Amino acid sequence: MKIIISGSGIGGLVSALYLNKYGHDVVIYEKNDFAGGKVNEYKKDGYRFDTGPTLITMPFVLKKFFEDIDENINDYAELNELEKTCRYFWSDGTMFDSYSDTEKLSEEITKRFGNDELNAFKNFLEFSRKLYKISEKYFLTKEFKLRNFINADGIRYFRKFTSKKSLNTRANKFFKDKKLINVINRFATYNGSSPFLTPQLFSIIAYVEYMFKPYYVKSGIKKLADSLVELCNNRGIEINYNASLKGIENNNDVITTVITENKSGSIKEIKNFDVLLSNFTNNSSLTGKKYLENTDWSLSGFLMLMGIEGKNKKLQHHNILYSDDYEKEFNDLFIKKLPAENMTIYICITSRTDENDAPRGHENWFVLVNAPSISNNFEWSEENKEMYKNKIIQRIKEFGTDIEKKIKFCNIFCPSDFLNLYNCENGSIYGLSSNSLKTMFKRTRNRSNKYRNLFFAGGNTHPGGGVPLCFLSGKIVSNIINK
Ligand SMILES: Cc1cc2nc3c(=O)[nH]c(=O)nc-3n(C[C@H](O)[C@H](O)[C@H](O)COP(=O)(O)OP(=O)(O)OC[C@H]3O[C@@H](n4cnc5c(N)ncnc54)[C@H](O)[C@@H]3O)c2cc1C
Repeated sequence: MKIIISGSGIGGLVSALYLNKYGHDVVIYEKNDFAGGKVNEYKKDGYRFDTGPTLITMPFVLKKFFEDIDENINDYAELNELEKTCRYFWSDGTMFDSYSDTEKLSEEITKRFGNDELNAFKNFLEFSRKLYKISEKYFLTKEFKLRNFINADGIRYFRKFTSKKSLNTRANKFFKDKKLINVINRFATYNGSSPFLTPQLFSIIAYVEYMFKPYYVKSGIKKLADSLVELCNNRGIEINYNASLKGIENNNDVITTVITENKSGSIKEIKNFDVLLSNFTNNSSLTGKKYLENTDWSLSGFLMLMGIEGKNKKLQHHNILYSDDYEKEFNDLFIKKLPAENMTIYICITSRTDENDAPRGHENWFVLVNAPSISNNFEWSEENKEMYKNKIIQRIKEFGTDIEKKIKFCNIFCPSDFLNLYNCENGSIYGLSSNSLKTMFKRTRNRSNKYRNLFFAGGNTHPGGGVPLCFLSGKIVSNIINK
């Protein structure tokens, strides 16, 4: 079969390599002049920054993909486990370190929150383990079909799996300490949702991180995308850059023509193909206007990439500075659709682990704050960006680290930049949010219900957002197409 893939994000590249392995003829059309989509980086004056993912969960998914296409991941990218996985800060001076080693983590939980909370933590992991096992078997690795759940496991866990109780409600049932609840609640943001709305099912994100540990890619996450591109090149998969999918023509339920446009505006019509696979979902001719009229988009981000003079011993590779009112923060983001006044700040400093990422004696700060998806309620004007940047720097100072005079440069990405760069709906990073079971079910499936020869892969589709799930979506969709 001749397969056209539109978009070269992780979902597109992984699908291309599976389909090529299955013997199909694959060609990719990508709107940008680079591949990898959100898995990208920025370099300036000797500093290197990831501009998208900074943390990989479920590393076994990536390893398995390389095995499936007869390669070894170690020949392409070095995935490393961090001993200290994250340092959490609260404005009252409390600090909590998360470790990848279970014993060390247990000691730290006991030290900070007491023995009862350690027991609660173990019980919480056991609760989420059961949900994870069901998800892994019937949801994460398979095309989405309700009938997948009609079996003994599905019936046994039906209520837990489809419970409308929020992650926060569930966390409150296990834990007493509000700070530990904060730690658990933040996992909802891994798919761009609110812990106060997202169903308890997403406790599986916490389970996945504690169980399989978080990893980082040495020399930057872009290495991963680059290795997929290298494999495409080696295997004769053509990638056409600066080629944006503009529209389609169809004959009833079959797409017959794909229309692409390059940067200079010249239009190309592609007719000779069997299947179109899209790695993005915001083209109404593909997904339909109704999908784009959804309002419950996942979070976007306000990202500052800063070259910082000096070293900040208090901070580690991954750091979280919590807001004083987590619920209000998510209310601002999802209900008012405004940037949070009192925001939680994520600071990732890869140069703490990888010295080559910053000049000697300096650090590369990736500072990410959750932002609402684009709406009429707020405009990221230059003035607003500057004001928000200063607010964040002031907030970091309140936590005891003053960087104001140490900033060599600050490059900002706001929701409209994510929209322009990657064409993601309303700048939202993970497509539709998972703030309710209803929106979860509205997520684009891997197979179009409108056109027989149209399929979807990537973080906006089943099984969900984030790098490992994009690998899984590539596998699921390739198997469907191959069949
Ligand atoms: C700031 C940030 C932090 C993140 N942190 C993490 C993290 O720590 N861990 C994690 O696992 N995930 C994280 N993610 C999410 C992760 O990056 C995404 O889920 C994943 O990379 C999405 O891949 P995708 O295959 O859906 O494609 P995308 O990366 O969305 O790529 C889609 C591709 O399609 C192209 N395209 C769009 N429109 C067209 C068109 N009309 N014609 C042709 N091509 C088109 C785009 O240019 C792009 O190359 C983060 C993302 C961001 C932005």
